Amino acid sequence: MTAAPYVGRFAPSPTGPLHAGSLVAALASWLDARAAGGRWLVRIEDVDTPRCRQEAAERILAQLAACGLQPDGPPLYQSRRSARYQQVLDDCIARKLAYPCACTRRDIDAALAARGLEHERHTERPYPGTCRAGLAGRPARAWRFHAERWQAGLPPAASAEGQAARGPVLTTGGVRWRDRRLGMMQQDVAREVGDFVLRRADGLWSYQLAVVVDDADQGVTHVVRGEDLADNTPRQMLLQSALGLPMPHYLHTPLVRGADGEKLSKQHGAPPIDERRPLDALGAAARVLGLPPAPAGRTLSQVLALWVRAWARIYNFPP
Ligand code: GLU
Repeated sequence: MTAAPYVGRFAPSPTGPLHAGSLVAALASWLDARAAGGRWLVRIEDVDTPRCRQEAAERILAQLAACGLQPDGPPLYQSRRSARYQQVLDDCIARKLAYPCACTRRDIDAALAARGLEHERHTERPYPGTCRAGLAGRPARAWRFHAERWQAGLPPAASAEGQAARGPVLTTGGVRWRDRRLGMMQQDVAREVGDFVLRRADGLWSYQLAVVVDDADQGVTHVVRGEDLADNTPRQMLLQSALGLPMPHYLHTPLVRGADGEKLSKQHGAPPIDERRPLDALGAAARVLGLPPAPAGRTLSQVLALWVRAWARIYNFPP
């Protein structure tokens, strides 16, 4: 069997321009694709339409271009793909892998508290499965993936011993997988996350559904993105297995933190990168990735070429 040709991607949410943190993921995914001699795509993740702005998408594309990070094809916009996501949800419903949910946050907290499972503030609530048995006359709000049912039908946990180094292993015990930077990872999705949302109460598509469908439809073989998303990966793998989609390789990059130790983010007021000085912005991102400093007097394309070679040594390509 020959491996599929490398396809990588950068998938920004256009809620604001690129900042020092998002440039790390952009540069890393571009370097990985170039080191592999593969294609690099950009996907505009504007699925959360009220928070996304067309101007921000255009600014991000211009910032990438100023940094010499040119996609090998036109960008894909998630906001134009509702019909495709609906088709996938309908398929899950028909297979009894998705069900409607009437719970509000408060209902979920109350159900967890009743079982002595208070969730920590700021962490995601594991869904207690309240609506699995039906809505009990309440109106449907969201649609959930039946993670518990899908996971229960996988091979027994004991069969996972020692296999995850070769590729993700999905069993009744959850998902074991090897991240190219973080190493072996594990999550019991059914227990730690529960049945997760595919379509939100406000009618918007969930990140998990959109990302899995788009990575597959774009033929993405390698996902390189920020470490804050690493704990979403097992949910995505569970969905990929349920939908019969191939599983990409994953590499999660270090986060950039502000002076207060918090992850840099647009919500946190991170300033946009200055695309008039691309080598300064890229140099900071390269430092986070452990790449050597740009030697003085080199052009942007010379520096990028140098980092492609350094990347291949550091990040052990091919995985
Ligand atoms: N759109 C997500 C973000 O901007 C990235 C999603 C992904 O790379 O899977 O944080």
